[in-house]
Amino acid sequence: MLKLLFISTPVGALGTGQGGGVELTIQNVAQELQQRGYKIEVVAPIGSVLHNIPVKEIPGNLQIAVQTQGRDTPICLPPNSALANMLDYARQVQHEYDLIVNFAFDWLPFYLTPFFHCPIAHFISMGSMTEALDQIMTQVATNYPQTIGVYTKSQAATFPFADTCEILSSAIDLSLYQFVPHPEKTLAWLGRIAPEKALEDAVAAVNTTGTPLKIYGKIQDQDYWQQIQQDFPHAPIEYMGFLSTQELQQELGQCRALLMTPRWIEAFGNVAIEALACGVPVIAYRRGGPAEIVQDGVTGFLVEPDSIEGLVTAIDQIDLIDRRKCRQQAEAEYSLTALGDRFSLWFDPILKTKNS
Ligand code: UDP
Repeated sequence: MLKLLFISTPVGALGTGQGGGVELTIQNVAQELQQRGYKIEVVAPIGSVLHNIPVKEIPGNLQIAVQTQGRDTPICLPPNSALANMLDYARQVQHEYDLIVNFAFDWLPFYLTPFFHCPIAHFISMGSMTEALDQIMTQVATNYPQTIGVYTKSQAATFPFADTCEILSSAIDLSLYQFVPHPEKTLAWLGRIAPEKALEDAVAAVNTTGTPLKIYGKIQDQDYWQQIQQDFPHAPIEYMGFLSTQELQQELGQCRALLMTPRWIEAFGNVAIEALACGVPVIAYRRGGPAEIVQDGVTGFLVEPDSIEGLVTAIDQIDLIDRRKCRQQAEAEYSLTALGDRFSLWFDPILKTKNS
């Protein structure tokens, strides 16, 4: 039986939404591999919750999300760092594991890779963010070939080591998402409420069309959220809070479409495949992960990046999309089985390095 130790994101406890889509990815990869007979333990900040997966909760201060900082920001660790404590735990128990899988998008786990004797596979959950991080990741990509995995090609293309990345995509537990054939009029917007997600574009679009928009997700930047409300005082929007997957899919299925308006190169966009699984078409900018997911004109619309007008046109045409095709795409491309296959294939050569 293969034993894997997962290192979680150090920016928030699992289940809070602070870590974004990688929280769901960790749950899903762990669940699928555990079901296949791997022994999994996840090391994560204190307060973390996963469903039916053992979690080693580690105290300490959280990392600041790297996307809130500039490209030249030096490496930063708070006193009593949760990330450092998580890696110290990993160091102590590494002899019990065949592989460490790092999901932390941070400098320290890359830097420490040669200091561990257990091999480390790094799953990168964002595009290029800072020079210091790019540099250390490039070093690992060079010295430990095949150990870096990403969600999508467009995400890989943001890094100097794009060609060496293993493209792993993402997946969801489709049994948790119910297909809804007949939606209400409402549109949905899902995700962390933070500038890189450009919620203001979705709000500007519905301010024009008059279509109600329900907003779900963690408010990461209060000032940013206040500003949007001030800028669009009469927009037909409603903030619904941060919901669990179970509650979220119930609400999401009722929506006519999901709007995805990220300003940055979104690495993947787990919310896109959650929507498709409920039969909800996705209207997204033609950029980053969503552009690799949405089949333009079939399971949603891809719109010129940053064009409000483009969003408005797509909203007006949304009833042309057959919701059954959306569910079918999710089933064909984003099942946990497919994800489990891709991850085990990725691990195979890395595991061999352990004994050589
Ligand atoms: N999410 C959630 N409840 C909500 C809104 C969002 O659990 O009310 C989750 C959603 O399931 C997804 C994540 O938040 O997994 C957002 O991830 P995504 O990959 O779209 O973007 P990221 O935050 O990683 O940039």
